[in-house]
Amino acid sequence: MGAHDKPCILVSACLLGDPVRYDGGHKLDPAVAALAPWAELVAVCPEAEAGLGVPREAMDLVGDPAGPRAMTAGTGRDRTKELAAVFRGQAADLAALEPDAAILKARSPSCAVESARVYPQRPRQGDPAPGRGMFAAELARRAPLLPLAEETDLHRPEPRAHLFRRVFTLRRWRAARTVAPDPEALRAFHERERLGLLGRHPSLCRRLEEIAASACTGAATEAWTRYEALLREALGHAPTRGTHATALQHAASTLAEHLGRSDREDLGGSIDAYRNGEKTLTEVLAFTRSLALIAGRADLANNPYLAPHPLEREEPGAA
Ligand code: SF4
Repeated sequence: MGAHDKPCILVSACLLGDPVRYDGGHKLDPAVAALAPWAELVAVCPEAEAGLGVPREAMDLVGDPAGPRAMTAGTGRDRTKELAAVFRGQAADLAALEPDAAILKARSPSCAVESARVYPQRPRQGDPAPGRGMFAAELARRAPLLPLAEETDLHRPEPRAHLFRRVFTLRRWRAARTVAPDPEALRAFHERERLGLLGRHPSLCRRLEEIAASACTGAATEAWTRYEALLREALGHAPTRGTHATALQHAASTLAEHLGRSDREDLGGSIDAYRNGEKTLTEVLAFTRSLALIAGRADLANNPYLAPHPLEREEPGAA
């Protein structure tokens, strides 16, 4: 698949209202369905697509949480081998779509990213341990740097913002990659993303900067490959107030020469207030952006870090 206009997100089909669950029902999640205007949602039900039918016998995960067996809940049929093979093929096909993220059903023995229940024995005996669903495990093996989330992550502002910052940055990366291996395009991408990467992981941002700066025509393909691996690693780190403050200070120093003294002091005070938990990120980003506009720095004001997509905001109900 080439560059998508919108991020491409794999979604457990039952979360979109498809009646594919073992009992013939669905688990429509309004927070997931509400993503439709922003993203290309690719619905997937690994169990139904494995030919298990709807309705079907429920599945339990049993045994070692690091490598559980998939047993039918009532009859105790061990389907581990056949499902692992089918899920492996599905994961390969889906990874080939180059999705930007997957949002999968929590607690499902197939789809859960980290909240599947793994019972010590069947039929359901003992306290279940948390584990990964079998399909999610195959997807993670096939696409280790793909952001995986459960629908419950969309119900909490910070994990949701963290996920969508990754998603939208990856979408921009995919668009930039269409002109690879031009070294100037790699530098331009980094220049545009620098604030967001500083706000996530300053030291990885500096290593990315070195890769982009040293890319030369003869070895540009290799630079793009190294950059992508490190970019995906950086995007896996959740930002903190400290890392965001680093990015904001970088923006402030870029603006300093264009601002009067009182604006500079107000901006510094605003960043300190954010660092101390007295302001939200959205507030200080908006203030920085307004000063960038006053200073005539539309390039900075429109930078994706200062002008985030509504889904990237951390306030409850921001999107
Ligand atoms: S949780 Fe996954 S396997 Fe189960 S019904 Fe939903 S999409 Fe299908």
